Amino acid sequence: MSKRIAIIGGGISGLSAAFALEEKRRSGMPIEYVLYEAHPRLGGVLVTERVEGCLVEGGPDSFLTEKPWAAELCRQIGLGDQLIDSNDSQRKTYVLTKGKLVVMPEGLMFMVPTKILPTVLSPLFSMRTKLRMAREWFQPPQQGKADETVAELVERHYGAEMVDLLADPLLSGVYGGEASQLSVRAVLPRFADMETKHGSLGRGILSARKKMSTAAKGPPAPLFSSLKEGMQQMVDALLSRLDANFLRPSTPVQSLIPQDGGWTVSAGYQSDQFDGLIVATPAPAASVLLHVGDENLSRELGDIRYSSSVTITLAYDERVRRSLPPGFGFLVPRSEGRRMLAATFAHNKFPHRAPDNRALIRCFLGGSRDEHVLHSSNPEIIGIVRDELKQILGVEAEPLFVRVYKWKGAMAQYGVGHLERVQRIEALRKNLPGLALAGNAFSGIGVPDCVRSGKEAANKVLAAIGFGESVA
Ligand SMILES: Cc1cc2nc3c(=O)[nH]c(=O)nc-3n(C[C@H](O)[C@H](O)[C@H](O)COP(=O)(O)OP(=O)(O)OC[C@H]3O[C@@H](n4cnc5c(N)ncnc54)[C@H](O)[C@@H]3O)c2cc1C
Repeated sequence: MSKRIAIIGGGISGLSAAFALEEKRRSGMPIEYVLYEAHPRLGGVLVTERVEGCLVEGGPDSFLTEKPWAAELCRQIGLGDQLIDSNDSQRKTYVLTKGKLVVMPEGLMFMVPTKILPTVLSPLFSMRTKLRMAREWFQPPQQGKADETVAELVERHYGAEMVDLLADPLLSGVYGGEASQLSVRAVLPRFADMETKHGSLGRGILSARKKMSTAAKGPPAPLFSSLKEGMQQMVDALLSRLDANFLRPSTPVQSLIPQDGGWTVSAGYQSDQFDGLIVATPAPAASVLLHVGDENLSRELGDIRYSSSVTITLAYDERVRRSLPPGFGFLVPRSEGRRMLAATFAHNKFPHRAPDNRALIRCFLGGSRDEHVLHSSNPEIIGIVRDELKQILGVEAEPLFVRVYKWKGAMAQYGVGHLERVQRIEALRKNLPGLALAGNAFSGIGVPDCVRSGKEAANKVLAAIGFGESVA
C-alpha cells in the first residue's frame, strides 16, 4: 500500500516539496501526496501579470544568483533556457538623502565599503561616517559575542548614519523589517563571522573576495537571476509536472490532529488520513494548525513575527523613461519621512520586461513600521506613491496603468535569538510523527531558501515514514 503525505500550503515552499515527492513517486516509490492550498491560485506570493506588453511582478521579481536552489529547480523543471540575468552593467542604486537621490558609491558590499576612493568622494556619507569607516579597518576580532540586532553591529562598526542610510532601508527591502529588530546571526551570519575572525568587516570582505577570485574562473556571476516570463513561470512549470489529482486549491485546512502514528487533516467537511505531513504555510498559520499536536511547538511558531508588504507598479511612456536616472532604483531611509521604502526601475533591472518606450517603476510600501498601509484603499495607495514619485523623481505624468498587490503577513522577521528558536522548533518537530516544516520562517526568506526548505522537508518526511536515509 502507498504511504500518504499531506502538504499544507501551495506557495513555492509547498510546491517544491510536492515536486520532490512527485519525482520519487514517478521513480517507483510507493507514495501519494495531497497538496492543500487555501486560495484558488497556487504559487503563494509568486504572481506575474502581462499588462500591455509589460511584465509586472506582484511579489518577488528575481532571486539571488549565489543561492543555487531556485535556479537548480528551474533547470530540473525544464526552464534552464528561460533563466535570465539582471542587467548588472546598469546596476546603480540611489539613496534618498535630504530629498535628493544620491548614488551609492562603487564597492559597497551591503553596507561595507571595500573601495577607498569612491567612498571618500561620495556625498552620501558625512565626514564623521567616513572617519568611522577608516577607523573600522583597524577593529580587532571580537570573540564570543551573543546574538544582537543588525543595527547594533553596524552602529558599532560605522555609526548610526550607516544604519539609517543603508542597513535599515536594505533590510526593509528584503525582509520588510527593521535593522533595530532583526538578528544579525540569522540575517547577516557572514558579518557576525567576519567580526569574530577579522574584527573589521571591510578586511573580512576583502579576504573572502581574495579567496573567491583565486577559486573562480570567468566573469563574475550576476547578482540576480529571474525567468524570461517572470516568476510565475516557475509556478506554472511546477504545476505542469505535478499530478493535478493530488492538488486541492481553494481548500483551507482547519485542523491537523496526530492520530495512530500519522495525521488526520481536516478541510471543509472532509477529513483524510496521512502517514506524513509537511506544513509549508507562514508560521502564524502553522502555529494555529499544530496547536493540538504540540502546544510548545505551536507557541514557538507563533512567536515568529511577520510583516506585510505592498508593491505598486506604475507604467509610464517614453518621455518619463528618458527623464529617469539610470540604474536599478532607489532606497528611502526612514529619516526621510516618506511612506515609500524603495523603488525599482524594473525596465532597467530586467530590460525585456518592458518595451523600449515604456518605464516600469515598482514601489514598495509597508514593512513592520507601516502595517497600517494594508488598510488603505488602492486609490489611496496610488495617491501616496504618485505624490512621492513627483517629489522624488519629478514624475507628474498620468501612469499608463497601475497594479497594486497587498501581501498581508508574508515576510518572516528573524528577531534576536531566531537561530535558537529554530533549533527548539526542530527538536519539538521531531517528537511528532512524520512531520516536517517548510517555508520562509526558518532559515532564509528568499525564494531559493524556500525551494531548499521544501525539498528538505520532503526528504525528512520520507525518512520518517520509512523511505530513504534518516535525515537530521
Ligand atoms: C512583495 C514581496 C517581494 C519579495 N521579493 C523577493 C525577491 O525579489 N526575491 C526573493 O528571493 N524573495 C522575495 N520575497 C520573499 C519570497 O518570495 C517568499 O519568502 C516566498 O515566496 C515564500 O514562499 P512560501 O511558499 O514559503 O510562502 P507563501 O508564498 O506565503 O505561501 C504559503 C501558502 O500557504 C497557504 N496557506 C496558509 N494557511 C493555509 C491553510 N490553513 N490551508 C491551506 N493553505 C494555507 C497560503 O494561502 C499561501 O499560498 C518577496 C516576498 C514578498 C511578499
